[in-house]
Amino acid sequence: MFGKRIKLFKLFGFEVGIDWSWIILAILIAWSLSVGFFPFRYKNLSTQTYWAMGIVGAFGLFFSIVFHEMCHSLVARKYGMAMKGITLFIFGGVAEMGDEPPSPKAEFMMAVVGPMSSLAIGLVSYGIYFLGRQNGWAEPVNGVVQYLSYINGLLAVFNLVPAFPLDGGRVLRSILWGLKKNLRWATNISSKIGSGFGILLILLGAYQFLKGNFMGGMWWFLIGMFLRGAAKSSYRQLLLRKALEGEPVKRFMKPDPVTVTSSLSVAQLVEDYIYKYHYKMFPIVEDPDRLVGCVTTKQVRDIPREEWSYKKVGEIATQCSVDNTIGPQVDAMKALSMMSKTGSSRLLVTDGNRLLGIIALKDLLQFFALKVELEEQ
Ligand SMILES: [Zn+2]
Repeated sequence: MFGKRIKLFKLFGFEVGIDWSWIILAILIAWSLSVGFFPFRYKNLSTQTYWAMGIVGAFGLFFSIVFHEMCHSLVARKYGMAMKGITLFIFGGVAEMGDEPPSPKAEFMMAVVGPMSSLAIGLVSYGIYFLGRQNGWAEPVNGVVQYLSYINGLLAVFNLVPAFPLDGGRVLRSILWGLKKNLRWATNISSKIGSGFGILLILLGAYQFLKGNFMGGMWWFLIGMFLRGAAKSSYRQLLLRKALEGEPVKRFMKPDPVTVTSSLSVAQLVEDYIYKYHYKMFPIVEDPDRLVGCVTTKQVRDIPREEWSYKKVGEIATQCSVDNTIGPQVDAMKALSMMSKTGSSRLLVTDGNRLLGIIALKDLLQFFALKVELEEQ
């Protein structure tokens, strides 16, 4: 969704990383703390001290969010869910979940532990702040600890709003799911509330903006947009999963795909295949259906135009990889997640090095649309 992910470290077997957007956020936070929050609450400190406090505060927030997401991940793992890792991005953290939670109870426990962990850090920080005040600790230390208690309290409250996919929305979904035993219905209701809350934040942001609070207004606006998008797409994702899970790739595969041979020239490939079929990738096949490689438009682009007429496809092709091939018995949902990961809309269906056919995103989505149309209500 966003830019590149930077891996930082591993904790309890989970890879913790940040998205580039988080660095921007961290700088914004350090900046607003050093020129706004700290000078406002603690007078008469030097500029350097405010900056040091701001930077430590931003790091403190970083570790608070990692702790929050780590608690989600540990509970999820306890319930047997595959967790890929934790990524911090501009709107906070995401514990990357492989599948839907196995039961309402698992989801409830997993979701509720997030706000609880933030609340715990908030209370502990508040206790330390209280001690610091009593014992006359240095102002900068008190300031940072106070900020951490405040921001974690805010995180706990915000995350408890029952707006899916926020933690509170997941708690709500798990309760509805447990009551009616219908995950789709529960997701529909809670994501509608999530989407509604998103609109509320957008309006709040617009109002703040009109009042002249540009920074704060823009911030709420963006969070609202993000939440609304996330609520809608998580419901769609669930429907998609329900529709495709358990269906083998074979079912959607088109046999007899368009193939090319290694002896074809690049010019012919462009003229007779790429411009004709508009695909970005072609399988290269020798004697009936033995797959020998793949050629993509990206590889063609790397060849100077004047070489197109004599360069052969076989010279620029690469081996087909696990990123663009899939077995016929594999779950179609897996095919879809491979497509979304790699951005390619077609995968080769292979059995060993035999090419059986092609599975295309278009066909998966068409099937999904039909299924929803026929089975809804
Ligand atoms: Zn959370």
